[in-house]
Amino acid sequence: MNIYEETKFIMKKYGIYANKSLGQNFLIDDDVVNKIVDSANISNDDLVIEIGPGLGTLTNELLKKAKKVIAVELDNRMIEILEDRFSLYDNIEIINQDVLKVNLNEIIQKEQQELGIKSTKIVANLPYYITTPIIMKLLEEKGEFESITVMIQKEVADRLCEIPGGKLSGAITYSVYYYAEAEKVLEVPRTSFIPAPDVDSEVINLKIRKEPPVRIKDEEKLFKIIKYAFMQRRKTLINALSQCDLFSGKEQIKNILNDVGINEKVRGEELTIQEFASIANKII
Ligand code: SAM
Repeated sequence: MNIYEETKFIMKKYGIYANKSLGQNFLIDDDVVNKIVDSANISNDDLVIEIGPGLGTLTNELLKKAKKVIAVELDNRMIEILEDRFSLYDNIEIINQDVLKVNLNEIIQKEQQELGIKSTKIVANLPYYITTPIIMKLLEEKGEFESITVMIQKEVADRLCEIPGGKLSGAITYSVYYYAEAEKVLEVPRTSFIPAPDVDSEVINLKIRKEPPVRIKDEEKLFKIIKYAFMQRRKTLINALSQCDLFSGKEQIKNILNDVGINEKVRGEELTIQEFASIANKII
């Protein structure tokens, strides 16, 4: 049976229909599944955390490669399916919860102590309605994992993998760049899922950096400044930042820009992360 036939079979057996509000688009393409698992570069010493296993299509391949797979799934209809399907495996743990509420660091630390896990990787075909919150949670919590390999909307992938200051960048481009090295792996057409989503998809790999690419005294200030710069991205940086309570007014912003050698007429979207860092480091 190929993955398409397997998916159809499981859905019929359990009377499952895809729940759109949970972002359920099930993968039915063998090549794509293999490519995702290959690009995650999993070894038999690794812990893999899979977000949204659904019917278990990716899980099935991850289990063959990893020391242990922890699968976090919100839809309790999927839990019975996953438990039945993988009942013979002793290296899977299924958590029936919203991934945004799961303390992943606690889970990883427990597995490090009990199984001696050295490296953890996140793999997922993400539910698209919460792609950004999930990725930001993974990055900001600074979990002890090595990489994040995820399928997301192509449009979001373009933004996350853009160079900060490039045409497609948004505030999130800078955050991703700060925490990780982003790489595109594979474009995936809508026909690789049932039901077919309304958008094309892309698999990306985020390799977590050991050290940030810029020296910054206060990360919170850096990201707040970037957020304000992009909230009104067509305005000049001075005008956009004058709304931010980190600054006393336009005069102070002007002085800082002069100090760090940035043109007063610049718009925030043109700045590199180094330039944003130099502004943030000027605020006491
Ligand atoms: N991994 C399966 C596949 O590739 O066929 C399913 C992927 S589907 C795009 C997304 C999965 O994430 C669904 O199974 C959905 O129920 C689950 N999901 C949605 N919101 C979630 C959340 N907040 N926490 C955990 N899982 C969630």
